[in-house]
Amino acid sequence: MIIKPRIRGFLCTAAHPEGCARDVENQIAHVRQAGVLENGPKRVLVIGASGGYGLASRISAAFGAGAATIGVFFERPAEGNRTASPGWYKSAAFTRLAAAEGLYAKNLNGDAFSAEMKQATIDLIKEDLGQIDLVVYSLAAPMRQLPGGELVRSTLKPVGEPFEGATIDFNTGEMRSISLEPANQDEINDTVKVMGGEDWELWIQALLEAGVLAEGCVTTNYTYLGSEVTWPIYYHGTIGKAKEDLDRAAKALQDPMAGVNGKAYVAVMKGLMTQAASAIPGMAVYLSLLFKVMKAKGTHEGCIEQTTRLYHDRLYGGELALDEAGRIRLDDWELTDEVQNWVKERWARVTTENLDELTDFAGYKQAFLQMHGFDFDGVDYDADVDPDVQMPLAFGG
Ligand code: NAD
Repeated sequence: MIIKPRIRGFLCTAAHPEGCARDVENQIAHVRQAGVLENGPKRVLVIGASGGYGLASRISAAFGAGAATIGVFFERPAEGNRTASPGWYKSAAFTRLAAAEGLYAKNLNGDAFSAEMKQATIDLIKEDLGQIDLVVYSLAAPMRQLPGGELVRSTLKPVGEPFEGATIDFNTGEMRSISLEPANQDEINDTVKVMGGEDWELWIQALLEAGVLAEGCVTTNYTYLGSEVTWPIYYHGTIGKAKEDLDRAAKALQDPMAGVNGKAYVAVMKGLMTQAASAIPGMAVYLSLLFKVMKAKGTHEGCIEQTTRLYHDRLYGGELALDEAGRIRLDDWELTDEVQNWVKERWARVTTENLDELTDFAGYKQAFLQMHGFDFDGVDYDADVDPDVQMPLAFGG
């Protein structure tokens, strides 16, 4: 099958297996270049291991510290003439490349919110690794099924006041206005239920009760604060309320984690193109501006640069340098006055006509395509490829 991008709105419904493998290879190359992570974690569990930050966390641990990794994710294999999801192809490539390196890597595919998935993960840890040194919680989910079967959805809406902003049409490069009414209290509560800290706490509780967290175990959860210009839709919006709940959960986890001399941290990461980020209204304009200025300054980073820096300079080397809320900061380069002033000066001036001149929309679009395995040099996109890529799974289909 010849696979080309199929873009609808902010979604691309096709993925390229060879391009996705190339993405993983490039990330591995970055980690190798950064050098061996002395004192790094040896047994790592990543919940949400197939997407932007979770996959990068897994690659940084495996190829930087030689860690055995267990990955939990929710991905779709190919079916008929529908390709697999990008995370399926990337996880399959990661598993193959890890095995070639002699690194343990097993995968569980299914709903991380379920008790069944938590138990299957615990069983696998007991069977294969005994205990875990690092638990990375990197889930970005649109919905959560509660134990009784009820489905709760997260929304991306402002809180208190309506949001007026602009987004960019991927296909045409045209700016479009968007306006969103503020969320009601149910929508806020539901977003916190899906993207807040409760499920992280449930995972850690279950892992501790099962005795599978090692002495000194660390657990992290990723958050985003971002720029003043995105606060109305992000940090002060429904998703921001969920992120505030992560700070609460991190505090609540200190005591239980102390039982294994462990720690729980929220890590503030930079704004990047990932599946989750591309769905946020208004984010396209901000990230296109951010990419432009950070590339010009030589401080632009992708997920793999961020997670590698998290391990080398914060968690397993350098210093934690926690902020006043006890969070690890990796958004330091994004939030310098110089970068933010540059963005703010241009934020309200971006139009369809000056988009390419004022911003790095070309780079943003390329990041979007590459997330799905397209637009990589050296991959023949006219060649016939088999979309049906197999991946060994310890749980799920
Ligand atoms: P992503 O969409 O690239 O990855 C999400 C992961 O969650 C995937 O592995 C997916 O399979 C998994 N997942 C989703 N629902 C699941 C379910 N029910 N069961 C099991 N797995 C499920 O997202 P991302 O941007 O890497 O986000 C990860 C975290 O990083 C989120 O907390 C996000 O808020 C945070 N973050 C993102 C950015 C950014 O700019 N992208 C910045 C800072 C922090």
